[in-house]
Amino acid sequence: MNEETIFTKILQGDIPCDEVYSDEFCIAFHDIQPQAPVHILLIPRKAIVSLHEAEEQDQMLLGHLMLVAAKVAKKEGLENWRTVINTGSDAGQTVYHLHLHIIGGRSLSWPPG
Ligand code: AMP
Repeated sequence: MNEETIFTKILQGDIPCDEVYSDEFCIAFHDIQPQAPVHILLIPRKAIVSLHEAEEQDQMLLGHLMLVAAKVAKKEGLENWRTVINTGSDAGQTVYHLHLHIIGGRSLSWPPG
């Protein structure tokens, strides 16, 4: 599952996205099918397939993503939000390039379906 994904194409600028944050390690953009008033995807520039494939050497990057997720959520005006990483098809992963969902702006139920 190392083939190019839609997120690789976004990173390369081959397809557009509604970007809200960018740095040397990651970018964030609005999800094309938002599930809440705020639904942003945060992806590393490094093409890690999923959390399943993340390695020790990704420790700093993964920590960075968590902190950027909070920064982006706050920038979007959120006080409460959910950060989701789907890993594998049974968990709902459809794009095999690691990504964090930042979801908020409405009350969210738990547990997820
Ligand atoms: P997941 O199901 O966890 O793999 O999440 C993939 C997410 O990518 C879904 O919420 C899709 O709506 C979103 N998505 C797919 N293609 C695009 C795109 N071109 N721009 C923005 N979001 C996208």
